[in-house]
Amino acid sequence: MTYDPNNHEHVERNREYQQNWYKNNKELQVERTKVQKKKNRERNKKYVEKFLASSICNICGSEDNLVFRKESGSHPKVARLASNPSALSTLIEEINKCVVSCEECVAEQKIYSKKNNSNTKKNKALGMHHSTAQHRLRGMLFYNALVELGKNMCYRCGEEINSSNELSIEHKTAWLNSEDPVYYFWDLNNIAYSHRKCNKANL
Ligand SMILES: [Zn+2]
Ligand SMILES: [Zn+2]
Repeated sequence: MTYDPNNHEHVERNREYQQNWYKNNKELQVERTKVQKKKNRERNKKYVEKFLASSICNICGSEDNLVFRKESGSHPKVARLASNPSALSTLIEEINKCVVSCEECVAEQKIYSKKNNSNTKKNKALGMHHSTAQHRLRGMLFYNALVELGKNMCYRCGEEINSSNELSIEHKTAWLNSEDPVYYFWDLNNIAYSHRKCNKANL
């Protein structure tokens, strides 16, 4: 008797047969799945090992202690996928989203991004780059000290310099093209204070 998919009885019998087969062979089926899962896990692990063995660190070129990393900073799922019986295509897809770096570079990057984060926080709080703010603060302190010393006079026009924004520090003898640039640059007697606009006019 041939199986007829349009015959209700046949279909019913077939379904019963399959159900019974599964019931009777449940252990076998479970065992088969287990073996398949183990095979997949081993295949994934080997794939990752081979991939790393043929890679170099994308930052320093080292061949040792390589790990997967995502440039977005999000967590790479390669290790988890490799230790699971995941489909190879899923694993490869995740690997393609990653870069390979050595552990030393990863550690350095972490420090770098932490530092960057704290700088970002400072910039945000100050409403400007914090090194600009630092520079401006030093300029104000210096100007205040000059006022206290009565030295806030322009070397060029002889008038008072009224704010730190107007202050420029210049070399009386232009150092760069002098016969001794290093000497004229560092010689404190060669330093004068002037208005920015007076200094510029004489450049
Ligand atoms: Zn490296
Ligand atoms: Zn002046």
